[in-house]
Amino acid sequence: MIDTGAIRFVYFDLDDTILDHARAEKLALQDLHHQPHSVFKGHSFDAVLEAYREINPIVWKKYSEGSLTKHQAKVGRFTQLLEKLNIESQVDDTLLAETYLSCYANHWSLISGAMEGFLKIARARPVGILTNGFSEVQRAKLKQFPQLESVSSAVIISEEVGVLKPDPALFEHAAAVVGVPAESILYVGDSLHSDVSGGIGAGWKVAWFSEQSHEHEDVWSFTDWSLLIDLLEGDARLAH
Ligand SMILES: [Mg+2]
Repeated sequence: MIDTGAIRFVYFDLDDTILDHARAEKLALQDLHHQPHSVFKGHSFDAVLEAYREINPIVWKKYSEGSLTKHQAKVGRFTQLLEKLNIESQVDDTLLAETYLSCYANHWSLISGAMEGFLKIARARPVGILTNGFSEVQRAKLKQFPQLESVSSAVIISEEVGVLKPDPALFEHAAAVVGVPAESILYVGDSLHSDVSGGIGAGWKVAWFSEQSHEHEDVWSFTDWSLLIDLLEGDARLAH
C-alpha cells in the first residue's frame, strides 16, 4: 500500500483515466462506419473496431519508439486498417484520418466521478496532467474541460517534450517542471505499460485505474474514482 502521507504532488494521465477515450474512439469509428458511402460498408462495425484496436496500439508503440513520424502514425493506422480489411479503393487515407479525428473530438466525455475527484484532490495537493498524445488533440481536450488546466500546476504533453511514456525522461522532465522529487509524486493512470511501468521506472508511486487488482509497495489499483479519493483522504490534508 502506498504511503500517501509522503505524496507531495499528483500527476494524472488524461485518456481513459479522466477522459473516456475508449468510448470516443468507438463512437468516432461508428461515425465513419455509418457515413453515407462509407468505405467500411462491406464490413460489420465490430470487425472494423476489432481491426483498428489491433493496429492502433502497435502503431502507437512504434511512434513512441521513434520509428514512425507523427504523420505516419496518424494516417498509417488507417492505411493499415484499409489493408487489413482488404478495402481496395481510391480512398484518401489522409482524409479518413482527419475525419476520424474530427468525429473523435465530438465524443469526448468524462469518466464517471473523474472531474469531481480530480478537483477534490486538487484542493488538497498540487496536481498536474501528464499525457501521451498529439499536442493539438490533447490541447483541444483541455480546452473542452478547462477546469483540468486551470487547477493544474503543470500540463505535460509528450509531443511537446519529444518523448513519450513510458520513457523515464518524460517523467523526469515532469518532476523537474514542478520541482518535486520522484519518490514524492503519485501518478494516476490506466495503462500498465505507459503509466504503471513508466511511473515505477521513474521512481514515482502509481495509482493504477484498472479492473485488475494489483498491490505492492509503490502501486495500488482502483476500479472507481471514489476509491482513489478514499485512499487519499487517509491524509489529513484532504480532510478539510
Ligand atoms: Mg491512459
